[in-house]
Amino acid sequence: MLPLVPDRTCGGCTECCRAIPLSLPELSKPTGRLCAYAVEDGGCSVHAIRPEACRTWFCLWRVVELPESWRPDRSGVILRPDGLIEGRITLHIERPSEFLGGDGFFLAVSQWMADGLHIAISVPGPVGTVPAIADATDYLRRAVEAGDPAGFLALLLRLLDSLSRHDFEPDGVVEHYAVK
Ligand code: SF4
Ligand code: SF4
Repeated sequence: MLPLVPDRTCGGCTECCRAIPLSLPELSKPTGRLCAYAVEDGGCSVHAIRPEACRTWFCLWRVVELPESWRPDRSGVILRPDGLIEGRITLHIERPSEFLGGDGFFLAVSQWMADGLHIAISVPGPVGTVPAIADATDYLRRAVEAGDPAGFLALLLRLLDSLSRHDFEPDGVVEHYAVK
């Protein structure tokens, strides 16, 4: 597990408890369905006995020094950790928001690209389907290298629109809850 930013907690966020599918003997829930154990203001009603997968999966907002505005329930963006070892950051964009047009978002993505990371963009489909994902590194590079936040946002929104029309495949997860 990646080391976490000290003194940072998930607070009221439960975005991963909705976005990430689980297929475990004790807890199975499809992509995009909020886990029935999640509580309204954030947190988990079975926290002390939650599955190992829930104890060890953290979005990169818990790992990387980024402002509070990046918390996924505020930004609408979950930074997925999978792929990081291969040099890829996946921005799972739950919902387009003004956050995507902010300088902070543009500058962070620009820095990751300057660091040599690949940028993947992922969007959710209907509940119970596998998200659509595309490597957007080369696509976004010209706006990043031009230092053009408006051009970057226009490209990103066009990509999100294209991904939203993807033929989403069912994830095949059958929901059941038996944590005890
Ligand atoms: S998405 Fe990140 S901040 Fe939100 S609950 Fe999951 S790990 Fe915590
Ligand atoms: S068991 Fe708790 S931590 Fe795990 S997905 Fe459900 S609400 Fe989230």
